[in-house]
This record gives sequence, structure tokens and C-alpha cells, in this order.
Amino acid sequence: MIPVNEPLLDGNEKKYLVECIETGWISSEGSFVKKFEEQFASSVDRQYGISVCNGTAALDIAVAALDIGPGDEVILPSFTIISCASAIVRTGAMPVVVDSDPYTWNMNVTQIEEKITKRTKAIMAVHIFGLPVDMDPILKLADRYGLKIIEDAAEMIGQTYKGRACGSFGDISTFSFYANKHITTGEGGMIVTDDKELAEKCRSLRNLCFGKGKKRFVHEQLGWNFRMTNLQAAVGLAQLEKLEEHVARKRQMGKLYTELLKDVPGLQLPLAATDYAENIYWVYGLVLKDEVNFDAFEAMKMLSEYNIGTRPFFWPMHEQPVFKNMGLFENEKLPVAEKLARRGFYLPGGLALTEEQIKKVAKAVQEVMSRG
Ligand SMILES: *Cc1c(COP(=O)(O)O)cnc(C)c1O
Repeated sequence: MIPVNEPLLDGNEKKYLVECIETGWISSEGSFVKKFEEQFASSVDRQYGISVCNGTAALDIAVAALDIGPGDEVILPSFTIISCASAIVRTGAMPVVVDSDPYTWNMNVTQIEEKITKRTKAIMAVHIFGLPVDMDPILKLADRYGLKIIEDAAEMIGQTYKGRACGSFGDISTFSFYANKHITTGEGGMIVTDDKELAEKCRSLRNLCFGKGKKRFVHEQLGWNFRMTNLQAAVGLAQLEKLEEHVARKRQMGKLYTELLKDVPGLQLPLAATDYAENIYWVYGLVLKDEVNFDAFEAMKMLSEYNIGTRPFFWPMHEQPVFKNMGLFENEKLPVAEKLARRGFYLPGGLALTEEQIKKVAKAVQEVMSRG
């Protein structure tokens, strides 16, 4: 079986973990946490880094820290992970979705302005799969309409947009270190910002909004326990040391897949680059062209017969039963996102994947496609 993801842990992970265990510092109080926060924030040119237990928690905190709530609207892509929309919905605010670009799979930035109302408070820009969102138009809109930007850079660790680090664009930006991201802590996440007050707020929200000094157990606000442990931060620090190598490796893997699949009929492959970035292939996605007479789910089933692990693309937010049942997104039609969800899936792409495995996967894809 070739799994859809297997992480690479071949640096100082073990050494740093042993240090945690031998010193007894395993909770969030250990020194790796601060080190990881500082080094990660500086790697994306940010003043402040606030580590959390996962990328979903990072989004929950980011939205809450901007005081988004009932009566507010936040514009985001429909084609994304549920964590983005749930962070908005849980505050009582309204998620407003836009469709995707058919080639980069990122939010279609030309559709944002028409969705802006008096209630719009923020734009959530989510970088999808390996190419960043075209940020310049979003920055302009945010400036013109006085909107905040929340940037979800979970899939874009080590990526740049026009030479500037992804994760440096939002008023607040978030990352995930889940096992399939460019660097991992198993589970983990980070919020970054240059705003001191916002950083303080995030720290407080992450840590139950404890009071200060004598008033430690007196709470002015409700927070969460979303702290990262020293064990996770130890792994994160070791991974961060390898980031450049990881990104280079992912790019190599993506290029090899493209080389092997470019002449297979019926497949839309990821773009190698746009005007503003080179793909870092968080995942290597395929979209079945209209002429193919099976869908993504049938293709994935056929590939599983070759013992190849795959995952479908995101299911769009406006088609989620949980949101439909709340009365959200009534009559919303976003044809590109709907098509990506039905025709798109991704291949094994973890950092531990070998060239030999990639060749095996590509050969199986070729055979499957010859049936369509
Ligand atoms: C992975 C991911 C998340 C969620 O991160 P978790 O750590 O799994 O909670 C959020 N947003 C995007 C775009 C992601 O890819």
C-alpha cells in the first residue's frame, strides 16, 4: 500500500524529544514552545507567533481575536476545509462564499467585491494546495473597504507570493502542522501577526483567558485550552530546520508527477507556476476533464485496487449538510467549486514518498485513465 501521506522525521526530532523527556518538560511550559514560536514567526517575517494545538484552533482564535461576531460577515472561498467556515459560524457571524479559479483552485478574487456589504468585516484568504491566492487584489479591497484579512496559510509553509512569505499578509495569519503539511508537529498550529495587542489577545484566548497575578482564576472572557505542548514544539523546531529541504523535495515530487502524467488524456494537472509563485505541491491534485466518463470517487476506487491511497478534494462549504441545515447558503451555485469536488482528488504526496513509489502511482493512474 502506498499511503496518501507519510511524514519525514529525519532531523533533530528524536534528539529534541529525548531532551523533553529527560528534563521532564513535556507540557506547554517547556522552552521549545517559545523557541519554536519565535523562529517560526521570524521565518515568515512576523513579529509574533502564538502556537496552538492545531490549525483549526488557530482559525478559531484568529476570528475571535478580531472580535468578529453576530451581525458580521466574512468572505471566504467555498472550496476549503470546514475549519475556515466553522471558525466564522461558531462566533455567530455569517460566512459568505465565493467560487474558485478553475486552474489554481484558489478563491476567485474577481468575485469578492460584489459580495462586500455594510456588514462585511473581513476576508479570509485561504491558500489552496500549493499555489498562493492572488493577494494584491485582496489587499486593495481590504484597504478600500476597511476590512481585516485573515490568511490561512496552512498549506503554504515555505511558500512566497511575489517574493514575500505566505503568512505575512493577513492582519492575522494561521498555519497547521498536521502530519501532511510541509512541516509537522503531528498535530499543531500557529497564529502569526505583527500587531502586539492582537498577539496578546490570541495568547489569552489560547490559554483560557486566565486573569493576571492574584486574579489568575478570575476570567473577563471565555477562552480555550488550545496550547501546544513542548513535545510538539520540539518536533516543530527540528522540522523547521528542514523546511527548505522539505519544500525542495515537494517541488521535485510535483515535477516528477507532472513529467509522468502530462501526456495522459483526460487529466487536468496542477499548474507548475503562476505569475507570482512556483507551486510547492502541498498535495498533488488531479481533476478529471469533462470527457472522462467516471468521477473522482470511481477513479479513487480503481486506484485503491492498485493499493494506492488517495483523498477527494474538499467538498464546498455551500454544499455542506451541516450549514444547509442552519439555513446558510440557500440557492448558492458555485460551478467551479462544485466541479472540483466531484472531479478532483489527490495522489500520495507525503515527504517520505520515494521516486519509485511516484512512478508506480503514475503508472496506475495511466492504466486507470485508459478505462475512461
Ligand atoms: C490542514 C488545514 C487546516 C486545519 O488544520 P488542522 O491542524 O488539521 O486543524 C486549516 N486550513 C487549511 C487550509 C488546511 O489545509
